[in-house]
Amino acid sequence: MTGSAGDTDGRRRLLLFGLDGVPPELLFDQLLPIMPNVRRLVERGVRAPLRTTDPPISVPAWPVMFTGVDPGTLGLYGFRHRRPHSYTEMYLPTSSDLPVPTIWQLLSARGRRVAVVGMPLGYPPPEVNGVYVSDFLTPGHAEVTTFPPELRADLDGPDGPYLFDIPFRSGDLARVAREIFEMTRRRFRFAERLYAREPWDVFALHEIGTDRLHHAFWKHFDRNHPQFQPGNPYERIAEEYYALIDEGIGQLLRQADDRTDVVVVSDHGSMAMRGCFCVNQWLEENGYLVLRHPAPRPSTPLEEVDVDWGRTTAWGAGGYYARLFLNVRGRERDGLVPPDQVGAVRDRLIADLQKLRGPDNAPIAVDVLRPELLYRGVAGDAPDLMVYFDGLKIRSAGTMGHPTGFLYENDSGPDDAVHGPYGVFLYTPAGGVAPDQLPEIPMVDVAPTLLRILGEPVPSHVQGHPVEAVAGAMTWRMPVPNPA
Ligand SMILES: [Zn+2]
Repeated sequence: MTGSAGDTDGRRRLLLFGLDGVPPELLFDQLLPIMPNVRRLVERGVRAPLRTTDPPISVPAWPVMFTGVDPGTLGLYGFRHRRPHSYTEMYLPTSSDLPVPTIWQLLSARGRRVAVVGMPLGYPPPEVNGVYVSDFLTPGHAEVTTFPPELRADLDGPDGPYLFDIPFRSGDLARVAREIFEMTRRRFRFAERLYAREPWDVFALHEIGTDRLHHAFWKHFDRNHPQFQPGNPYERIAEEYYALIDEGIGQLLRQADDRTDVVVVSDHGSMAMRGCFCVNQWLEENGYLVLRHPAPRPSTPLEEVDVDWGRTTAWGAGGYYARLFLNVRGRERDGLVPPDQVGAVRDRLIADLQKLRGPDNAPIAVDVLRPELLYRGVAGDAPDLMVYFDGLKIRSAGTMGHPTGFLYENDSGPDDAVHGPYGVFLYTPAGGVAPDQLPEIPMVDVAPTLLRILGEPVPSHVQGHPVEAVAGAMTWRMPVPNPA
């Protein structure tokens, strides 16, 4: 066996911060001046915009980041998936649904110790060589939220119970603000206690608060947002919150030793929401979806609408992007489209979608993605079509009964932000390097790059490749191994 720094006594350790939904322009530019700890990492590290997944949603983005395979191969197309053969019955995938191991599991199998806090998909908490705290998708009724289960007793601190997530789509912004800060404070304090006490080779912390802050407060802090009001009480909330994040990162960095490399990543970006497009209303207006009775009230979920399924050609589900399903004979209970017509119907639907116009009668850019063309494999319960409106600045809404098909506010509670195409990647090896900026890194390359940095082999099922400009940033200063 050839020696490398990764498997000698001086094995590298990795401290990783996963900040949900942080775009490069916020972390590497606008907020960097108020983040001295992150700034020091940037000044001594390699950074890049991290190209998120299609769809750009935390699930699949985080699991793709830490498995190195695409969403279709994982069978993850968003938080919610349609139960096969059903119309509106949805389920949330869990950590047990992943068909390939995460790097936390790969490292565990190699005898490395990991401490993972909140990394999605983290519920139920996966068994690892070390500890794992479940993620923001942990159900409220969950009893086992840590691996090993005994760790549960240590989650809550002197300042209150550990918070996995908070309700953020609410008119009570004062409450949302208070809870986001409190959740993050408690998570970082727990992380400090765990960090000091638990032996680890890789320590990874996920924070959902950044994403929640963006959704709840984007128009209040983004001075370029059309609805931004100067002097509003939340004008400086992004600076205050990111300063808290920076302080938390700084606390952990102060505990780090001289062989600890640091990584900061985010799963997708965030940007201002322009409005919502009511996809099922549009399908009904265009004859694809047939109702027996009109939706009883505004914002009625499709499962509460009296749909004439036997006469319906296609229906959709909302949430950032539109998942469209064809009602195929032999596949769905009351399937209408004969299997040999699926291609023709799909093409007509795509052509109709591409003629869309917004409330001002200006055309809306529509991107239609087909899972079988987009991914290396299509496992699980994929939609027939995936549709982005206006590069996702217009959110897809699945509810019905709205007076018009275009809404200026979100249909499922106040929300100012949608997800953007780039997250961040930052790698600062212990001791630092000359700062470098790469054009962009694809999500599937993160896992193999981290494995390379840690001196561990990259399994053959991994679709991404180690980014040499990143892994090379640490190898140049590695001691030359003695010839065997
Ligand atoms: Zn996210």
